[in-house]
Amino acid sequence: MKMGVDLVGKTNLIVEQLRQIVGDQGLVADDASRQPYLRDELGAFHGRALAIVRPADTEQVSEVVKACAAAGVAMVPHGGNTGYCGGATPDESGRQVLISLERMRRIHEVDAIGYTLTADAGCVLANLQAAAEEKGLLFPLSLGSEGSCQIGGNLSTNAGGLAVLHYGNARDLVLGLEVVLPDGEVWDGMKALRKDNSGYDLKQWFIGAEGTLGIITRVVLKLFPRPAFQATALVAVASIAAACELLAAARKLSGDAVTSFEYIPGFALALVGQNIDGARVPFDDDYAHHVLIELSSHQENIQQTLEDILENALESGHALDAAIAGSGEQRDALWRLRESVPEAQRHAGGSYKHDVSVPIPRIPQFMDEACEAVFEVAGDARICAYGHLGDGNLHFNLLPPAGMSLEQFKESPGPRISQRIHTLAHRFEGSVCAEHGVGQLKAGLLAQYASPVALKMMRDIKHALDPAGLMNPGKVLLP
Ligand SMILES: Cc1cc2nc3c(=O)[nH]c(=O)nc-3n(C[C@H](O)[C@H](O)[C@H](O)COP(=O)(O)OP(=O)(O)OC[C@H]3O[C@@H](n4cnc5c(N)ncnc54)[C@H](O)[C@@H]3O)c2cc1C
Repeated sequence: MKMGVDLVGKTNLIVEQLRQIVGDQGLVADDASRQPYLRDELGAFHGRALAIVRPADTEQVSEVVKACAAAGVAMVPHGGNTGYCGGATPDESGRQVLISLERMRRIHEVDAIGYTLTADAGCVLANLQAAAEEKGLLFPLSLGSEGSCQIGGNLSTNAGGLAVLHYGNARDLVLGLEVVLPDGEVWDGMKALRKDNSGYDLKQWFIGAEGTLGIITRVVLKLFPRPAFQATALVAVASIAAACELLAAARKLSGDAVTSFEYIPGFALALVGQNIDGARVPFDDDYAHHVLIELSSHQENIQQTLEDILENALESGHALDAAIAGSGEQRDALWRLRESVPEAQRHAGGSYKHDVSVPIPRIPQFMDEACEAVFEVAGDARICAYGHLGDGNLHFNLLPPAGMSLEQFKESPGPRISQRIHTLAHRFEGSVCAEHGVGQLKAGLLAQYASPVALKMMRDIKHALDPAGLMNPGKVLLP
């Protein structure tokens, strides 16, 4: 009884301490307002929290972290909550403090001479894109969730998206960071330098760390000239191998102007056609394989370059048909086909997901063997493998056989298929966590597939920065 009273007393004390740091408007107190913070985007994870705080600046984040560290309370950084791996959701103990960055959304500077953008980590990605565009510049990170994900979350998950092939992942777009470390100390790494070889590149430790090493509070990002012209086409290709050939040729013939190269199988396109209002597939015939290709350039003749590339591909037999966008509306319509695949899957009852990458030349064989594995384990499951072929990253999703619910499929045979797909990706020297990170969903997978040496280095880094294990425990590394 005495211990229970002590615990309640301590809990009240820390919550009161946090209230004093962030003020009433920085504490989410009523139950209904707390709920959206406590479940993840896909509804797969639900948690509880001792407190949900919304600090207004770096100093408040630092004070909050110091108070939690002193009390031995674990913390969960929380961005736009669009992650797919439960990284921003607290556990069910009700003893963790959730720290939301949503009030930290100031854009400090867009520098059109140095091509940099300096902002708070809570800025929504679309607002950063717009701020760059206002100055005629480009921040190229672009994801389906850009209207709500935050740059701090993007960096913490090393987000990919639709232009990785040309501009790289989030990791490649950062010059400087400010981070509140697990003891509350602030590391100011806000340098806007293109060259800096003074020792270890510390910022990279926090990018892709999913909030397990500290809380990113401010960022300096790279900007780029905004390409004036884009040429976009949906191309029916003879096979996945033909798609890979087309990618290589397009990069060569365009002087590496390919900014997106997305694979869409016939099955996914049909799902979109059936389930998404206004979606229209621009071909009369049904094809098994398609790619959405986009070139970007400041040269107006980029459209002609794309036409030449596709003509060659049609002659060589790699391409079977092509629809080239002749206007902005037509471009949007083609992109809508690609971006509607997740929604079309939801309309069809939802999908069982794998997010894998393998080296591009090995994708055709990987796909053959992965499809064979699905066929062996669950012959009538429907394969909807689509995505960022130009990055070697496919969302190898499965729809249950007709008549079976997704819940049933998740019980069986889903896990047996996952085992086969992940083992195969590993054997092809690929990754089982290609784009969406690890979070709590894939911590077991990382433990299974990362090498012992890699795991030991990760644990050593974690222990060096967070010896008490209070920063987002249970995420990325298993306890
Ligand atoms: C429709 C849709 C499309 C998507 N498309 C893509 C895609 O193409 N590519 C892709 O990579 N992802 C995609 N995602 C997944 C998701 O949007 C990304 O992972 C995104 O980067 C997460 O950002 P967030 O702000 O929502 O982070 P959250 O979900 O809030 O958090 C993600 C992780 O980062 C940590 N974190 C958040 N903020 C901070 C911070 N400031 N400091 C330290 N740690 C922090 C959290 O603790 C958690 O571990 C998509 C999601 C949706 C819903």
